[in-house]
Amino acid sequence: MKKPHLYAPGPTPVPSEALLAMARPIPHHRAPEFEALLAEVRAGLKDLFQTTEEVLLFAATGTGGMEAAVVNTLSPGDTALVIRGGKFGERWGEICEAYGIPFVSIDVAYGKAVDPGLVAAALAKHPETRAVFSTHSETSTGVLHDIQAIAQIVLKTPTLLVVDAITSLGVVDLAMDAWGVDVVIAGSQKALMLPPGLALVGVSRKAWAVVERSRLPKYYFDFVAERKNLVKNQSHFTPAISLIVGLQQTLRMIRSEGLQNVFRRHEQLAAAMRAGVTALGLELFAERPTPAVTAVNAPTSIDGSAIVKTLRERHGVTIAGGQGSMKGKIFRLATMGYADPSDVVVALSALELTLSELGYPSKPGEGIRAAQVVLAGMSNA
Ligand SMILES: *Cc1c(COP(=O)(O)O)cnc(C)c1O
Repeated sequence: MKKPHLYAPGPTPVPSEALLAMARPIPHHRAPEFEALLAEVRAGLKDLFQTTEEVLLFAATGTGGMEAAVVNTLSPGDTALVIRGGKFGERWGEICEAYGIPFVSIDVAYGKAVDPGLVAAALAKHPETRAVFSTHSETSTGVLHDIQAIAQIVLKTPTLLVVDAITSLGVVDLAMDAWGVDVVIAGSQKALMLPPGLALVGVSRKAWAVVERSRLPKYYFDFVAERKNLVKNQSHFTPAISLIVGLQQTLRMIRSEGLQNVFRRHEQLAAAMRAGVTALGLELFAERPTPAVTAVNAPTSIDGSAIVKTLRERHGVTIAGGQGSMKGKIFRLATMGYADPSDVVVALSALELTLSELGYPSKPGEGIRAAQVVLAGMSNA
């Protein structure tokens, strides 16, 4: 018997509260009971996104939310600024290309965070830029970009700031209204603790004025039509009913823990994970690490893919390897969503065993001990 342990940066574990709710007979989306549920979910999403504006729901993965943001903010002839420092930043460029939108890019080395000064310089040089597309937590490199600093720059211009917050919303502070972030995108299978299939998009007042005039082609992903229905607790098309039923439960869990406590928990778990892997003599890949996922350089003597494979096959532990040019060089351990201190200990224990099975010299317990020191220190604080 092998008990599965999931430390992937999506999908993440789903709590039984949500699983059981989703297992109940499916409600009809035009029935009063579902309208009441949607009203509660709308309010919960506003709290989570830290906005007073509506948060739109689409039956899509996070990438669908990203594509929706592009087609609802831009028109033919517009230009964009894209911040690229990993697979997900690059995705913004690919979506712009698909819609014939020319863009200037800021290319950040993998593992580094963008210098907000470069955004200010690029906008000064290209004031016609309609939108800046950025990642907040770059899941492929484990980097957290400083969106608050970037927002302070973009806020003073007519340009919109569109943020892929797919592994930052519900992980780290992202005060949409207070910071002045215009479009915030999240996905159900990350910190929202649900299966994949729901994209969530917050749109600022500044952005709505642009969205109402945007002329890129769209049909399903129409923000204006979706908001018109949502304010009446309806959806334009059949919504992802089961996932929204689950979302009611996970939003309740987040509310009862308290958003600031949720952020603190993620920071504590990631700090413990970082302490654990560094105590094993390993190096972190990210210079400004996101609390969502810890990216670790594989020891030079071991292929990172072998670590991922051994963890899965021998220990039932699923983590992620590196993507693209980082394949085999790094591995990534997520502590996102439904995660607590014991999860860190289990992951590090399996990692210690795996490393020694692959011939890496480490004393059993060294990583776990360092993690526990951090966990104890932070829970006493
Ligand atoms: C998971 C993820 C996405 C979206 O991926 P989907 O497979 O479309 O859900 C986008 N950006 C980031 C940063 C992610 O972590």
